[in-house]
Amino acid sequence: MKKKTFVTLDQVKEMNQQYPTPFHLYDEKGIRENARKLKEAFSWNKGFREYFAVKATPNPFILKILQEEGCGTDCSSLTELMMSEACGFTGSDIMFSSNVTPAEEFKKAKELGAFINLDDFTHIAFLEETAGIPETIFCRYNPGGFFKLGTDIMDNPGDAKYGFTKEQLIEGFKILKTKGVKQFGIHSFLASNTVSNEYYPMLAKILFELAVEVKEKTGADIKYINLSGGIGIPYTPDKEPNDIMVIGEGVRKAFDEILVPAGMGDVSIFTELGRFMLAPYGCLVTKAIHEKHIYKEYIGVDACAVNLMRPAMYGSYHHITVLGKEDAPCDHKYDVTGSLCENNDKFAIDRMLPKIDMGDYLVIHDTGAHGFAMGYNYNGKLKSAEVLLQEDGTTKLIRRAETPKDYFATFDFCDILDNVKQ
Ligand SMILES: *Cc1c(COP(=O)(O)O)cnc(C)c1O
Repeated sequence: MKKKTFVTLDQVKEMNQQYPTPFHLYDEKGIRENARKLKEAFSWNKGFREYFAVKATPNPFILKILQEEGCGTDCSSLTELMMSEACGFTGSDIMFSSNVTPAEEFKKAKELGAFINLDDFTHIAFLEETAGIPETIFCRYNPGGFFKLGTDIMDNPGDAKYGFTKEQLIEGFKILKTKGVKQFGIHSFLASNTVSNEYYPMLAKILFELAVEVKEKTGADIKYINLSGGIGIPYTPDKEPNDIMVIGEGVRKAFDEILVPAGMGDVSIFTELGRFMLAPYGCLVTKAIHEKHIYKEYIGVDACAVNLMRPAMYGSYHHITVLGKEDAPCDHKYDVTGSLCENNDKFAIDRMLPKIDMGDYLVIHDTGAHGFAMGYNYNGKLKSAEVLLQEDGTTKLIRRAETPKDYFATFDFCDILDNVKQ
C-alpha cells in the first residue's frame, strides 16, 4: 500500500513560518476516527473500554482528545498518573499497569482509586504494606514459552520479565480474596506491534480459558479481561493494516465460545493500546540541511535520534516522504541521518528516494506513538515541539520546543551555569 502523508507541502510551508523544524505533527481527525472505530469494533461488549497507554504519547492535549472519545489512561509511572489526574482522569478511568513499582507509585495509584494491575506475586505483600489492598485488583499473566500464531513465533513470553505464572496467579487470587478483594481482572501482553488480525482473538482465547479455570479453582469474581497493547501498524508499505472490525469480531467469537457458556458473559473487555491509537496519526517534519558525498550518499536533516529513537534503538523502518516529490521516481539511494556523534543516528539506510535538494521537507511517518516520547537529550540536543493539526485545518502548539534553559534547569541549585541558564 502506498503510504500517504496527512499533510501537504503547502500546509507544511505555512506551519514552518510559525514552528521551526523539526516538529512532531499530530492529526486530530485521524486520531478521533480511529478511536471511534475501535469503540465500534467492541461495541458488542457492554463494559468495553480502551485505556490509552500514556507512555506512547504523553501529551495532555492528546489525552484530552482521547478522553472526549471515551478512553481512559493506562499508566506505569508517577508522572503518567499525575498527568492523567491533571487531565481529569480519576478512579476507574485509570489503569495502573506497572512493573518493578516503587512504593510511592502504588500509593498514588491507590489514592486516585485507579485499577491496580499487579505484575508479580510478591507485589501482593508489597502493595498491602505500602498502600493497602483495594477491593478490585488485576493481575498480569505470563504463560511462558513461545507465543505462536499457527507456526509463526510472534514473541517470547518465557524470556519476558512481566507477569505471574499460572500457579502464582491462582495462588495469588486465593490470597487476595482472603485480603478482601471482591472483583478481579486478568491482564496479559504477549506480543508487540502485531500486524495480524489474529493476535487479539488468540490472546483473548488464552485469557478467557484461564479466567474460567481460575474462577473454578478459586471462586474469584472475574469481572475484567484486559487485552493490553500490541495491535500494530504497518510501518512498511508492503504491509496491510489491521482490520479492527475483524479483530473485534474475532474476540467476540472467543467470548461467545468460552466465557458465555461458563456463565461469565458479563465480563468487560479492556484494551491498553498505544501504537494502534496514535502511531499513524503523528509524523516528524524535518528539513534537509546538508548533503554529503563520500563512500555513500548522505542527506543530513535537522531532526536526529533525540526526536525519534526507534531507528537507532531497534533498527526500525520509518517510511519517508519528500514533500512535493510524492510522484517523483525514487532513483536516488540515501542514508538519511541526524547530527548526533553516533553512527546509528540514521532515519534510513540505503533508502531509495527522489532526488533530495537542500531545504526539502521530509516527513518521517508513523511517529505518533513511541516517537517523541522516547526522546532523550544526548549530545545536549533539545527536544522538538509537538503541533496538533486540528479538525478544522488550523494548527495548535501542544508542546513547545525545549530551549537551552530547559536543558540546564536541573542545575538550578548551583550558580556555575548562571550565565547560560536564562
Ligand atoms: C507499552 C504498553 C502498552 C501499549 O503498547 P502498544 O504496543 O503501544 O500498543 C500497553 N500496556 C502496557 C502494560 C505497556 O507496557
